[in-house]
Amino acid sequence: MAQQLNVPCYVVGGYVRDVFLGRECKDIDFVVVGDGTMLAREVAQKIDCKIKVNIFKTYGTAMFKYMDLDIEFVGARKESYSPHSRNPEVMQGTLRDDQLRRDFTINAMAISLNKDDYGMLLDPFDGLHMLSYKIIKTPLDPSITFSDDPLRMMRAIRFATQLSFSLDESCLKAIKENCHRISIISKERITDELNKIIASPTPSVGFKLLFDTGLLQLIFPLMANLQGVETIKGKAHKDNFYHTLEVLDNICKTTDNLWLRWAAVLHDIAKPHTKRFEEGTGWTFHGHEDKGARMVPRIFNELKLPLNEKMKYVQKLVLLHLRPIVLSKESITDSAVRRLLFEAGDDIDDLMLLCEADITTKNEFKKEKHRANFELVKHKLKEVEEKDNFEVTSLNHLTQK
Ligand code: ATP
Repeated sequence: MAQQLNVPCYVVGGYVRDVFLGRECKDIDFVVVGDGTMLAREVAQKIDCKIKVNIFKTYGTAMFKYMDLDIEFVGARKESYSPHSRNPEVMQGTLRDDQLRRDFTINAMAISLNKDDYGMLLDPFDGLHMLSYKIIKTPLDPSITFSDDPLRMMRAIRFATQLSFSLDESCLKAIKENCHRISIISKERITDELNKIIASPTPSVGFKLLFDTGLLQLIFPLMANLQGVETIKGKAHKDNFYHTLEVLDNICKTTDNLWLRWAAVLHDIAKPHTKRFEEGTGWTFHGHEDKGARMVPRIFNELKLPLNEKMKYVQKLVLLHLRPIVLSKESITDSAVRRLLFEAGDDIDDLMLLCEADITTKNEFKKEKHRANFELVKHKLKEVEEKDNFEVTSLNHLTQK
């Protein structure tokens, strides 16, 4: 179709990156040197005349869905930014201008779909090498890139986390220098990126970068506050930030449930608020689970996370996260088990996963002891559940008779 309309067309960005990485990609972006919306309409018409094409006039982009693919066409463009907005003024440009406006060299590669050089990779900023070196680097001066659109700082850290890449030194330095610029980005956009970091295989990579660059202190100060170790009379407590990250990485090995992962992020969030040093006992964080649960709605509201049953689920897990451990320390009575089963309801298995992920001691002996106690609690939970089910069934049977 591009040939018929006489407009050069290239597949560009994330799709090209993912082809080389062997990752599945359901978003295909085409850059067209000319009218992208016209080509989009023609292509959609040709595939299936019932396809609805969405046109965004301001940026000259057009999108449609085809099967499970999101297909987008954009006219090649140049951008210029003003200091208070991440939305640029755009003007028509060449393919190279369009590649230059892209965030990272690995996201700036294009493949020609034109007759003369069909399939040719156009990679002016050495994106392919950066893919093989696993490095995130910007095509332009990173300070300008990040100051123009500060969301790119979150994207850089998100890609580093998702792909297990490193940030190029100049990139890291520029994020540290420009982190305050994040203030012009909407909370929703920031949280989208945060969720993608949390959904990655090892989210601690992203959180450490967010902390080291100063971004976490700005976008989620309560979490950054977990960092630090205080020592009194030779007694130090653990660093709750790095502990939380370990718990988060642990839980990621057992679940893809974003909200269970959020529960891991927030399980100790109230520790700085409840911290006390008591003579004889040392450091305590009494009631942090209760206070933490009460903090969840405010945090969800602040981060524009959904204020619905997902929030209640996270709140419940934060509130109950110590209970299985406490249970394992006591002689386990049926009534205590029943109470926990009642309060956790259908989320009991998730609660057990969270508690297991919370075992981060480096002392192998202690670890084994905790695990063994845990198995005991699990066994007891199952036993009481089965016993109660049996009693209910027998009772039903009797009443029917
Ligand atoms: P993902 O789908 O995982 O978010 P992606 O790279 O496909 O990854 P999109 O947000 O779909 O990300 O963006 C598609 C392409 O558009 C990117 O690969 C990049 O070339 C460009 N792009 C997206 N956002 C920006 C931005 N903020 N600044 C510059 N270029 C961007």
